[in-house]
Amino acid sequence: MKATDYGPIPGSAILGGVSGKKAIVMAANIRIATVARGIFKAAKDTDSAVFMELARSESDLKGGHTGMTPHDFSEKMRDAAQATRFDIWALHADHITVKTGDATEINQTKQLIDAQVQAGYTSFAIDASHLFNFEGKTVRQELEPNIIATTELARFITAKMNGKPFGLEVEVGEIGRKDGHGLVLTKPEEAVEFIKALNENDVYPQVLAIANGSTHGHTYDANGNVVEQLSIDIPQTRAIAQALRDNNIKVGIAQHGITGTPRDLINLHFPKGDIIKGNVGTFWQDVVFNTFKIYEPALYKNIQDWTLEKYRPLNPGKKDRQIFDGNCKQAIKEFKKEIYAVGPDTNHAIESMAYAESLVFFRAFSSYGTASLVRNALK
Ligand SMILES: [Zn+2]
Repeated sequence: MKATDYGPIPGSAILGGVSGKKAIVMAANIRIATVARGIFKAAKDTDSAVFMELARSESDLKGGHTGMTPHDFSEKMRDAAQATRFDIWALHADHITVKTGDATEINQTKQLIDAQVQAGYTSFAIDASHLFNFEGKTVRQELEPNIIATTELARFITAKMNGKPFGLEVEVGEIGRKDGHGLVLTKPEEAVEFIKALNENDVYPQVLAIANGSTHGHTYDANGNVVEQLSIDIPQTRAIAQALRDNNIKVGIAQHGITGTPRDLINLHFPKGDIIKGNVGTFWQDVVFNTFKIYEPALYKNIQDWTLEKYRPLNPGKKDRQIFDGNCKQAIKEFKKEIYAVGPDTNHAIESMAYAESLVFFRAFSSYGTASLVRNALK
C-alpha cells in the first residue's frame, strides 16, 4: 500500500501505536455515509486516529440496516478518506455476531468475513459473547462455546488475510444483557480466562469488548424520553484492565454503546488507556436525522411515518418517540435512495455537524496526536 492512496491501515497498527497512552480511539459506526467526511476532516485537523465500522446487523451480504454491503461501505469510506486526504484509519467489521455457534451459522459468518476481507477490511470484531455454558462448573467451562467459536473465526480471518496484519477485537459478556438484578457485568477473571484460552489457541486480540454497564443506542426513562447513560461501571472496568495487566496480557478494552454517555464524564472520568477503543454508533445517525428535521422535513416525515406504521404494532404500550428512536435505523435501507439524493445544503450541514461533534469526541477521548503516534510507529 502506498502512503498516498489514503486506504485503511491495519487496526493492529492503530491499537499498537496508541498502546501505553492515556487515549481512546474513536470507532464510528457510519450508518449513513454522509457523516464520514466530517469525521475524517476532524480526525485530520486534530491528528486523531479513527476506526470506521459497521456491525453485521448494519452491513452484511444483503446490505443490513444501512443497505451497504461490505464492498459498498469500503468504497464509501475510501472515497471520504481520499477526499479529505486522511491516512490513519482502519476499516473495521464491528460485531461479527454469532448467536448459536452451529455449523450453518459459522459457515454464513465465514462468507461474510470473506466478503469483508475481499472489500479490504483491516480490522475485525468477533462477537460470540452470546455463547455461554450456564451449566459450566468453572469459568473456562462457562466460556468454552465462546472460546471455540472465536478461535475458529479468528483462524479463518488469519488464513484469509494471508499474512497481512489486521486488528482483532473479541467479546466476553454480552453488552446490555440483563438478569433479574439488572445488567450482567463481565468479571475480571472471565476476561483473563478468555484471553488466556485464546492465546493458547494462537489467537492474539489487541482489544476486548466487555459488558460493563453500557447499552447500545439510547437510554430511556419510564416515559420513553431519552436520558443520559450513567450506568457504565468505571471501577469494574479498571479492575478488568488491572487483572489483564497482572497476568501480563497486553489487551485493551473496547467500550461499546457510548452514544448516551455525557462527554464531560468521558473527558474527566473514563480510564483512558485502560479503554483504548470507544464505539460511537447511534450518535451519528442522530446527526443525520436531526439535520433532516430542518433541511428535509418532507423526507423526515416519510421516514417517521414508515417507521411508526411498521413498528407501532410490534411495540404495544410504548410511546411513539421511543418506537421511532429504537427503530429508525431500519428505515435507512428503505429510504437509501432519498437519503443519498438530498441537496448540497443538507449534505454540507451534516458534514459540518459531524465535524464539530467529532472534535468534541476526539477531545473527550484525548485522541489528539494519536495519528502521529501511529504514523511514527509505522515508519
Ligand atoms: Zn457494540
